[in-house]
Amino acid sequence: MSGNFRNIVVIGHGAAGLAAALSAAEEARRRGWPIKVTLAEKAAEGEAGGNTRWSPSYMRMATPDRVEPSFVHDMLEATTFQGDETYFARLAKEAPATVRWIASHGIEFIQPTYYLAKGPPRIQPSGGGPTIVKELTRAAKKADVVFRYDCVAQEIAIEDGRVAGLVVAQNGMRETLLADAIVLACGGFQGNGEMMRIHFGEGAETMRLISPGTRFNTGDGIKMAMQLGAELSGDWNGMHAEPIDARSKNSAPVVLVYPYGIVVDKNGHRFFDEGRGLVHETWEWFARDTHFKAPGSIAFAILDSRLLEIADYQRAIRSDVLPVRSDTLAELAKSIGVDADNLALTVAAYNAACLGDPNIFDATRCDGLVAARTLQPPKSNWARAISLPPFLAFPLVGAIAYTFGGLATDDHARVMRNGAPIPGLFAAGEITGHFYAAAPNAVSVLRAFVFGRIAGREAAGDLGVR
Ligand SMILES: Cc1cc2nc3c(=O)[nH]c(=O)nc-3n(C[C@H](O)[C@H](O)[C@H](O)COP(=O)(O)OP(=O)(O)OC[C@H]3O[C@@H](n4cnc5c(N)ncnc54)[C@H](O)[C@@H]3O)c2cc1C
Repeated sequence: MSGNFRNIVVIGHGAAGLAAALSAAEEARRRGWPIKVTLAEKAAEGEAGGNTRWSPSYMRMATPDRVEPSFVHDMLEATTFQGDETYFARLAKEAPATVRWIASHGIEFIQPTYYLAKGPPRIQPSGGGPTIVKELTRAAKKADVVFRYDCVAQEIAIEDGRVAGLVVAQNGMRETLLADAIVLACGGFQGNGEMMRIHFGEGAETMRLISPGTRFNTGDGIKMAMQLGAELSGDWNGMHAEPIDARSKNSAPVVLVYPYGIVVDKNGHRFFDEGRGLVHETWEWFARDTHFKAPGSIAFAILDSRLLEIADYQRAIRSDVLPVRSDTLAELAKSIGVDADNLALTVAAYNAACLGDPNIFDATRCDGLVAARTLQPPKSNWARAISLPPFLAFPLVGAIAYTFGGLATDDHARVMRNGAPIPGLFAAGEITGHFYAAAPNAVSVLRAFVFGRIAGREAAGDLGVR
């Protein structure tokens, strides 16, 4: 305790940390409890916001006041039934009230157009991640949360078996902040080359980070909690990654039209079924295979002029660089440095296998336009010949957004150890595990909000009643 005050320290300035800090401060004020809330953020003020700041922040809800009835089942299915049903049930239950609460702080929710493929319904905060960070920071400051930037959380101090302080480094000095409770909201370990190599193998440390905010998430919170014996959860070989334009220097220049053509490696060979599912069902493994298996960690989406006829095709291309364009495949191959003879053979074999009626092509759903079974690897949807010049190519690399392996938390956002909560320690957002196999589409920001808010409220409640 400092004076009569108790202290909550929240680590991280993304959706989870901001929601936690704001809800802790509001809960304390509502109950008249003397609790001081501090948010410690590693980045400088102008760069704070982690992944959240760069994210469009699509959120898997049917409308702002409703999740789909199948939400919990869908989450379990996405995690190949390794996920914690109680956790996802709480997420579903609290989502509408959480969105109402966020909206009450000046953030409007809209029903956005997505890329091209439809999939589950989603809502989006108008203005995306930048608006989340700006408006929740404003609200938290108004609620008297103290912000410390350039402040790196390093270690949790424990006294009498519960959280007592947080060791931070700021301006080259180490100090211990008094902390009766801590909320860990400082992201996954994607920005930590060594941890990436340990969990994903050689070469993982060179994977492109999808946004400028991604690099700050270096597994610090996971390591701090592990030192206390925290339980782990999630798939330590799981990551959310997407294919981006290799030439672009922008944040998240994703290219999501590859299902409508073919993808080859630099030798001109196809290496996966581009049409196996909707783009958000194949992007993670495509990005991973490109990085870890394709020679030179690069792939090329090859399309023809029919791409330009797909309604709103630009929605699925967020690169600022135009595709390489050529009137012949041979010239295209030369321009992108792909073996021209092999590319000609690959496209010829692919075209010969495109026997379905091209009129059933529909970019927005799995259209069943499957290539002949003789084609290897198969193409399960959108199999239309590539024959109408100009031919187009996008060089692609896999870029990581976040990792799945993290801390085990219960449905009160408490960090667990040997089946019981560690007194005074909470966590929310990317730092928590819970995801397995594939990222459930459009759930990362939603769960950061929901469990960030729960963590803040629980941390305040825990101190208020002690
Ligand atoms: C380009 C892009 C698009 C995305 N699109 C979507 C989408 O549409 N829908 C969706 O659900 N998800 C999406 N995601 C993922 C989602 O945005 C994130 O997983 C989510 O915002 C994570 O929130 P968070 O608060 O847990 O972490 P972050 O927002 O990453 O915040 C973590 C914070 O902790 C700070 N930090 C790290 N270590 C320390 C330390 N030691 N001390 C102090 N501070 C520290 C970081 O600087 C950062 O500010 C996307 C991500 C990106 C990058």
